[in-house]
Amino acid sequence: MKTHNGNVLVLATGGSIAQTSPSDPTLAGEALLEAIPELRDKFGIVVEQVAQVSSPDITAEHWLTLASRINRAAADEEVQGIVVTHGTDTLEETAFFLNLVVKSEKAVVVVGAMRRPYALGADGAANLHDAVVLASCQEAKGRGVLVVLNSEIHSARDVTKTTFNLDAFKSRDLGPLGQMVNGRPFFYRRSERKHTLCSAFPANLDRLPHVAIVYSYAGVTPDVLTGIAAAGYDGVVWAGTGSGSLPKAIRPAATTLVKNGMAFVRSSRVSSGPIKRNDEVDDDAFGFITADSLNPQKARILLMLALTQTKDPLEIQSLFDSH
Ligand code: ASP
Repeated sequence: MKTHNGNVLVLATGGSIAQTSPSDPTLAGEALLEAIPELRDKFGIVVEQVAQVSSPDITAEHWLTLASRINRAAADEEVQGIVVTHGTDTLEETAFFLNLVVKSEKAVVVVGAMRRPYALGADGAANLHDAVVLASCQEAKGRGVLVVLNSEIHSARDVTKTTFNLDAFKSRDLGPLGQMVNGRPFFYRRSERKHTLCSAFPANLDRLPHVAIVYSYAGVTPDVLTGIAAAGYDGVVWAGTGSGSLPKAIRPAATTLVKNGMAFVRSSRVSSGPIKRNDEVDDDAFGFITADSLNPQKARILLMLALTQTKDPLEIQSLFDSH
């Protein structure tokens, strides 16, 4: 007997989960599902190929396309939940972007694989199975965009890729939201930060501001910032040493950027611990913004979205403190 647990839309974008050759993802989303026939017995699954790329090649255009497709699908009563298959390198970025612009309570689950489909101990089929189950279930609703790999359910805001093993995805200081156990989700906490329906950002943006990340190191010189200003960026995320510190040699270049209307966010190259305002650096005096517990690549996404709403550093700071 066919037990129908709901309709799930799978949006495929490529990545190792679909990669049969060393260079490019070649397996279509449909082929990924063929490896898990029992899913089609239980769910009504529609697959759409949105892209076929390795995730280092994902761009802001892909994010905008995914966001608009997901928002449209989420408004369709027939669709229970949405799964995005994605390469793991930038999976956390796509997931966090969607977490801020999808305007629905419906579950959106982003999934990838650390091993290619024909590798020994490939994890793609199990992860995709978990993702479809999760996307279809009631408990996953209203929790923001979720990421599932290695049986762990993470918030898109908190998760990051930490290594190349099967347990690569971790929510550093905070831990996962829940676990998949024998194909069922069990949740233990919620994200406290604004997402999806409560976020400050609109659903359908058609372009995003340009924001660069600059990585700091001992002996860094101001030209790393002056080059960015000349290239016409709207903002910079500083991946500073320690608690997002800024060497004295860099401060004049950074303040010039701010005076010229660019946003400057202090984040850290250290892999955990929040960066708080006016700690180490006088952010009020310099007009800087701090990234809180977002890593530089996530701070970049929030800054891109914040700049669609305001250029005021204190208003941007309150978006960082609440999302
Ligand atoms: N290179 C792959 C990517 O598309 C890595 C992966 O998916 O695990 O990100």
